[in-house]
Amino acid sequence: MNINNILSALEAKHPGEHEYLQAVKEVLVSIEDVYNQHPEFEKARIIERLVEPDRIFTFRVTWLDDKGQIQTNLGYRVQFNNAIGPYKGGLRFHASVNLSSLKFLGFEQIFKNALTTLPMGGGKGGSDFSPRGKSNTEIMRFCQAFMLELWRNIGPDTDVPAGDIGVGTREIGYLYGMYKKLARENTGTFTGKGLEYGGSLVRPEATGFGALYFVNEMLKSKNIDIKGKTVAVSGFGNVAWGATLKATELGAKVVTISGPDGYVYDKDGISGEKIEYMLELRDSGEDIVAPYAQRYPNAVFYAGKKPWEQQVDIALPCAIQNELNEVDAKNLITNNVICIAEVSNMGCTAEAIDLLIEKRILFAPGKAVNAGGVATSGLEMSQNAMHIQWSAEEVDQRLHQIMNSIHSQCLQYGKERDGCINYVKGANIAGFMKVAKAMMAQGII
Ligand code: GLU
Repeated sequence: MNINNILSALEAKHPGEHEYLQAVKEVLVSIEDVYNQHPEFEKARIIERLVEPDRIFTFRVTWLDDKGQIQTNLGYRVQFNNAIGPYKGGLRFHASVNLSSLKFLGFEQIFKNALTTLPMGGGKGGSDFSPRGKSNTEIMRFCQAFMLELWRNIGPDTDVPAGDIGVGTREIGYLYGMYKKLARENTGTFTGKGLEYGGSLVRPEATGFGALYFVNEMLKSKNIDIKGKTVAVSGFGNVAWGATLKATELGAKVVTISGPDGYVYDKDGISGEKIEYMLELRDSGEDIVAPYAQRYPNAVFYAGKKPWEQQVDIALPCAIQNELNEVDAKNLITNNVICIAEVSNMGCTAEAIDLLIEKRILFAPGKAVNAGGVATSGLEMSQNAMHIQWSAEEVDQRLHQIMNSIHSQCLQYGKERDGCINYVKGANIAGFMKVAKAMMAQGII
């Protein structure tokens, strides 16, 4: 495989899709050696087939706002690859959504889902609609209009959407309600559903919990105890909440959260009722964290800044792609950071990752660290298919096992010559091998 040729051909075909090209490049660079040891992959053009989505749906979503004005947004679903199972991945409602960001997320999802050990292919969708500042009824009307277009293309064994940024339990409820009305069936089709109508226990916490199980394994592999370690978390949504909850439970001290307005540093640690207050902040719909420092006066709010300037042992980007850049990585390294784990998808820029790997900082990519969310979605699908509900303990235990298995896969495929574990390489190769073998077995389709 000649990575440069493949990348320049992709760039010519999809100019300006920077995030998508960034995600593809990261995977190709890490699988290059393994790929070249398998001439049958090259002959079957596995890479050329894998980097293009199976299909993309783009549609107009028109809805009425509370003033009676007509609003128009764009809706998408990228069905990327279903070699190992039905397309599976979230919907993102955020002003930054475009085809490039959804293609990067869908591409990442293929490997992430492969790592979970469950039979799920990769997909992603969403809209440039932002729930921020919208009323409940506006959000409902938007979700219904979105579903009017998408419902025909999804199903429990075809494509199973879920939440992501801007899509939580409320939005899933509205989307699934409309889906059911149109499809006239009750087979699941969405994950992240409310507990009363087929949702799974532990799904809301799963991404954050899974991330901390993974981080704990990383630290244990270096004989480091997580107890007493300080943690910088970015974001203040569902993922940041779950991560803060589990980090605190494991004995670490979370000292930051952040929003589009800046970040909050709480030297006392964000624990107990302060963690639940994060959800209140999120549900206020204002998308700001500044009120935290008014409510808890020991905390300091830094307007327009990112938490990576603080001295911490562990850094967990939990907000959005490319939120930790090379300068941030340098700051953290200067401040003796021990571990950086992407809980958001592609939370670090390529330059930041190169630096972390070069300096041998314990670093792991989102597709391994945050796979607990989609893994628990897979467990929700299993429960729906069997028409049963597992206890929280049962789901949590399975989630924990899955995260340990992902960690083992990274160790198996990520060992460098000097004995260090390159988690980026490990996760990419492990995920890729499974998908490539499945594609080989199923012929040229
Ligand atoms: N949006 C989450 C992710 O990036 C969860 C997807 C899902 O549960 O299907 O993996």
